[in-house]
Amino acid sequence: MTQIAFIGLGNMGGPMAANLVKAGHGVAGFDLSEASLKAAAEAGVTACASLQDAVKGAEAVITMLPKGEHVIAVWQQLTSLAPAGTLLIDCSTIDVDSARKAHLMAGADKCPSLDAPVSGGTGGAAAGTLTFMAGGSDEAFARAKPLLEAMGKKIVHCGGDGAGQAAKICNNMILGVSMIAVCEAFALGEKLGLSHQALFDVASTSSGQCWSLTSYCPVPGPVPTSPANNDYKPGFAAALMLKDLMLSQDAASASGASTPLGAAAAKLYEAFGEKGNGSRDFSAIIEMLR
Ligand code: NAD
Repeated sequence: MTQIAFIGLGNMGGPMAANLVKAGHGVAGFDLSEASLKAAAEAGVTACASLQDAVKGAEAVITMLPKGEHVIAVWQQLTSLAPAGTLLIDCSTIDVDSARKAHLMAGADKCPSLDAPVSGGTGGAAAGTLTFMAGGSDEAFARAKPLLEAMGKKIVHCGGDGAGQAAKICNNMILGVSMIAVCEAFALGEKLGLSHQALFDVASTSSGQCWSLTSYCPVPGPVPTSPANNDYKPGFAAALMLKDLMLSQDAASASGASTPLGAAAAKLYEAFGEKGNGSRDFSAIIEMLR
């Protein structure tokens, strides 16, 4: 059993902390939102009134926060609150530069650290089936692995500091681009008189096969569990897709990588969001593309 402080108990962090409790760990949680704290307490997390209270006695601290600025602000406080040797893990999706800055702050305080963003959404968080992409030292990864295994089914050590965030934004750039390609194919098929089922039956077993088609098919029918069958309730919200595409675009500019399709996908999701669609599933972009 490990004593863990869990900071950020929202849609993802709440169920992740609950799975750590189920696995027998001691979890003290803190969130700025009373509602999130209350829900976590109902799942067995010890609700704390401050970051300081949550971190007291913790061998590991996990953060699951909205953006890089939130992670940096919390980790800045952690470096004075957590004694040397405390394992610091950030599971939020943030920019690679902030992730590396957080590692540097932890290193200066002699705390092993890991960036470990996730894939799998709120469903995966609740079921404990997330994929973790980790960046950091071998020591930090070895200590974190048993904790991550309580929340996920696939744990990949991608490399040094920031490598987890790099893997996450590259993967999600593929996701954004592939969803738009699948939507365009269905929209073209409709104009050509092709049924949704016929296109699905061919593409899902041919070279057009991809996750956006077979798990999140953007038209109702072929994949009964896809958000298209549920009025495009997320699922994976379009605003989060845009956030991840912007992170990959920032990283592409900073590193000099050429990502013309990633740039086009970011523009399309930006336009989709401006039309008030940010909270709908990202597959609903087919309506704008038709
Ligand atoms: P969320 O908004 O539901 O939760 C974030 C929580 O952090 C909120 O409860 C907020 O009150 C809390 N918070 C903010 N600042 C804080 C602070 N200083 N101290 C304590 N608590 C603070 O967001 P979420 O959906 O849980 O996402 C969290 C992260 O996971 C994001 O980086 C997101 O991009 C990433 N992510 C989300 C999904 C998804 O499907 N929701 C999937 C993969 C990754």
